[in-house]
Order: sequence, then structure tokens, then C-alpha cells
Amino acid sequence: MSTNRSYKAQQVLDRMAQKLTRQMVGSLVACVHCGNCTEACHYVQANPGDPTYAPAYKADRTRRLFKKHFDWTGRVLPWWVKGGTVTTDKELTELKDIVFGKCTNCRRCSVNCPMGVDFAVLNRMARGLLVHVGIMPEGVAVVSKDQWEIGNQMGVLPEDYRETIEWMSEELCEEVGDEGAAIPIDKPDANIVYTINPREVKYDPRSIADAAKIFWAAKESWTMPSEGWDMTNFGLFSGDDDLGGAVARRVYDKVRELRGKKLVMSECGHGYRSTTCEGPNWSQTDIDFELESSVITMLRYVKNGTIKVDPVKNDSSYTFHDSCNNARSCGLLEEPRELLGLVVGDFREMHPNRAENYCCTGGGGAMSMSEYTPQRLKSAIVKANQLKATGAKYVVTSCHNCVDGLADLIKHYQLDMQVTQLVSLVASALVIEKPAGEAESGEEPEG
Ligand code: SF4
Ligand code: SF4
Repeated sequence: MSTNRSYKAQQVLDRMAQKLTRQMVGSLVACVHCGNCTEACHYVQANPGDPTYAPAYKADRTRRLFKKHFDWTGRVLPWWVKGGTVTTDKELTELKDIVFGKCTNCRRCSVNCPMGVDFAVLNRMARGLLVHVGIMPEGVAVVSKDQWEIGNQMGVLPEDYRETIEWMSEELCEEVGDEGAAIPIDKPDANIVYTINPREVKYDPRSIADAAKIFWAAKESWTMPSEGWDMTNFGLFSGDDDLGGAVARRVYDKVRELRGKKLVMSECGHGYRSTTCEGPNWSQTDIDFELESSVITMLRYVKNGTIKVDPVKNDSSYTFHDSCNNARSCGLLEEPRELLGLVVGDFREMHPNRAENYCCTGGGGAMSMSEYTPQRLKSAIVKANQLKATGAKYVVTSCHNCVDGLADLIKHYQLDMQVTQLVSLVASALVIEKPAGEAESGEEPEG
């Protein structure tokens, strides 16, 4: 150990040695600094003339450590390969401001790199190295603690979760006039165990009632779990694989305990990616049940006639924002569009879209890092211009994190637009047929 290197700086280098996977080394050595990815980044576009936002520049802050300490060419000729090191806590703090404050891990640069460099993977690793030594934005520390200790990333207490479900359950039963619409909790042997984003309990309980209404209309056998209900995972954002594994395991264990056949996740991009793609690796768990996004569940119900919808009931104009995690990282591209096309009359595509769509600018946990809010909102001009060009009154997104990111930039740039989700539009488009012989009440389901 170098005598003048701080304890934390040494810990970061030691941890890096443990975290270098073949995939990361590939991205660390493959960059030829061609600059193809530069304009892909919304931070670059919003900050012309500032090279510190370029993905390759940001990647080089981590790459130099690899070159100096782990790559044989760097050990022999560090000046040749631009190797470098960290020795002080101040340098670690400067690295923190880059990896947390200048990148949302959206992977738009990754899909635009001809050499296959996945900068977002490197950036996540660098975040994890800093989190390992306690250097992170305060919001990241708070949210991670809540997810470790309380079991969900918004610190929702068990009694608040249960009370919210019961409240939504009572309202739904009253609305549809059927006690059978009550939301089941911990029902064993259900076809579907439905997990959510804690934001739904705290700020948007109506989305839980909307989902329940759809399950009721579909006559689905389903349940919500009393524990392990948070399918979001801050480990994806913080780079903490241990947190990622613990959170994913909680969700999987509860599905197994209830003997659920399928785990369905509500609309949340990072939750879907974490639970479906990354969670089994982080938790080293075999999955012996099906995993599905609620977007696909709802689309199946509409397409096979399990539920009936009338797009006329959603009579405004709608565009669709692809969540980076859903679209770029999980390939959920066509299903949300197909569903949207079935439940609204006026759908206007945003450009660019699908895997080339721009981040909502609240991704990668950015909404929890208030110290970087000004630069986040400045970079959001790219998304604001994209939204404005559609002329739509609503932007629909299948991600709770994007709902917050989009709502914030819509307010900041004073756009005449609102944010909504597919679950709300499907619920408001539902056509509930009365049993034969029952008089028409004329009541319309609320959206
Ligand atoms: S990351 Fe890829 S696209 Fe960007 S500069 Fe390096 S090689 Fe070029
Ligand atoms: S991952 Fe997204 S925000 Fe980060 S550098 Fe690449 S394009 Fe920019």
C-alpha cells in the first residue's frame, strides 16, 4: 500500500480488483476515443463546449485507475496509456460528482458505441466503489438505508402499506358495487403475485386501485404480498450489488412462500430490469416462477378479450416516453405501444424513440440527488424539446421514476402537458358489462 494514499482511496482500488468482470474489462480496454457516443448524451447536448460531460471523458476518470493498477501496459508505461490513480478523499469526492452528478446511466451512449463499450456499466461500478467507502450523495445514502432496513426505498412502514391497500380496496368495491373486488393480501396459490413501486403507496395509490380494477375485470386469481412487495431496487442505481441481491431475494422469497405462479411487476423501468434481469445474478438465486411486466399482462387481457376496452374513453392526445431501463436494457419496445394504441384514439410517436429515446433525466437515481438538480434540469431541455414537438397533452410512460422526472421537467419548462401511465389509461378505458338481466346503471368507470 502506498504510504500517502488515504484509507478510502486504497479501499476503492482494492474493491475495484474484486469487481472487474470480463464485461467491464471489455469496456475499459475497447474505447478508441472516436467520439461517436458524444452527441448521444443529453448532458453533452445541453452543455455545448463543455468536454467534461462527454461519455468518453467521464469513462476515462475510471478507466485511468484500471490502466494504472490492473492493465499490464499501464503498469509498465502508465504515461503511454494515460493511467492514473487516486490518493486523496478529495479526489474521490470529485469522482463522485462525475459518476453520480453527470450521468443517469441511461445507456444511450452504450448503444451508440461501435466498439461495444458500455459506459453505464462502468459508471455503475464506479458508483459502487464509492458507496463501499461511504462517499455518495446524501439522498443515495438515505434511500439505500431505507431499503436495507425498512424493506422498501421510500421507508413506507408495514402498517401504512396495509392501510393504503385497504383504503384502495374499499373505494374500488364501492365504485364497482362488488365486494369481490377487494384486494387480496397474502393469498396463497394465486396465479399472480403483484409487486409495486413504493411511490405508488406514498404518492399515487390510485395506480394500485387501477391495477386492482383491471385484475377484478379480468377475474384474475391474484394477490399482493404483505412483505417483499417493493420490486424497485436501489442497488441498480447505487452500484451496491449486495443491496441489489438482498432486495431481489426478498421479493423472490415471498413469491415462493405464497406459492405464486407468476410475479408481475407494475410499471417501473428500473424495477423491471432489476427484478427480471439483474436480480437473479445479484442474489445468486434460481427463479422457479414466471416474471412479467404488468404491461404484458394488460396487453394479453385486451388482446385475448379477457377485458374489454373502449379507446374513445381516453379522448385526449397521447405520446409515449420509453423508459431507458425498459427499452434500452430490457427490450420492452412494442408491447407498450401496442397497448397504448388499443386504449387511446390519438397516439403520437415521439422522435427519436424506442432504444434511441432520450432519458427522462431523472434516471439512475437522479431524483434523489438534490445537489445536482440544477444540472439535471438544464440537461432536461433535450427531453422538453422532444415532448413539445409531439403537441400531445399527455405523455404516457411505463415507469414511476420517469413519471417524477418528466413531471419535474414539465413544470420547470412550463409545458402544457401531463404525465400518466398505461395502468390508468387501461382502467379508464374498461368497459364493464353488466350481468344478464341486471338493469344498466349508466355509471361510467372512473379513470
Ligand atoms: S465509448 Fe465507444 S463511441 Fe465513445 S469514444 Fe469510446 S469507442 Fe468511441
Ligand atoms: S449513460 Fe446516458 S447520461 Fe450517462 S454518459 Fe451515457 S448517454 Fe450520457
